[in-house]
Amino acid sequence: MMNYRRILLKLSGESLANKEERLSIDNKMVKKIAKQLKEVIAMGIEVAIVVGGGNFWRGASAEKNGISRNRADYIGMLATVMNGLALQSGFEQEGLSARVLSSLNFDKRVSEYYINEKTEKYLNQKEIIIFVGGTGRPFFTTDTASTLFASEIHADVILVGKNNVEGVYDSDPNINPNARWYEKITYDEILEKNLKVMDSTSFSMAKDNNIELIVFNINEENSIIRAIKGEIKHTKVTK
Ligand code: UDP
Repeated sequence: MMNYRRILLKLSGESLANKEERLSIDNKMVKKIAKQLKEVIAMGIEVAIVVGGGNFWRGASAEKNGISRNRADYIGMLATVMNGLALQSGFEQEGLSARVLSSLNFDKRVSEYYINEKTEKYLNQKEIIIFVGGTGRPFFTTDTASTLFASEIHADVILVGKNNVEGVYDSDPNINPNARWYEKITYDEILEKNLKVMDSTSFSMAKDNNIELIVFNINEENSIIRAIKGEIKHTKVTK
């Protein structure tokens, strides 16, 4: 059992989608996450989430379509807002209290503008924080938002939920069946071997701030709880 007081969960946009049913956001997926978080809150752990937007839009690929990177990235940030509102709705359906805090300023009916002091108050009240809008600036990703917010709120760990990958490997296990899986790995080894865990900006920030990463497969049953308890196959990234 890992001894966490406050976690930051990184959810990619894809983890909310259902390709077979062609749903960008599948409320069944959201509910599965909500049920787990209910248990996590009951364990006395504070929960913050950074949600991605890749199920709708990625700035870098949209640029190929002729839209300027700057604009394309703002569209991507808006995609994260859509996901965050869907998460909030699903969490409330499970009886959880959740706040959407945005790096971009919207009308209060949509979300609250992020300021750090509010986060402390809400987390102490056992409310789930959903960070949307990434960092609020183009040329970044929600991975970088994760390390940034984890640093700002002093989270003990970032739980990096991957789609159908059980942690860090020396090559893509979905392509190379002999890919080597790591139980533990240091930041320096990852940089040296040029392994892809998060994008390089976010990764160097995690290293500089000594943030522990737990990388696991979000698609497995009860994966979040099992990752917190250390009962799922995962890679631990540390100093
Ligand atoms: N984005 C951005 N700045 C940020 C975070 C996100 O410009 O700080 C944009 C960027 O275009 C990115 C998109 O939002 O491609 C969706 O985020 P991301 O790719 O991180 O989502 P994920 O892959 O986690 O679903």
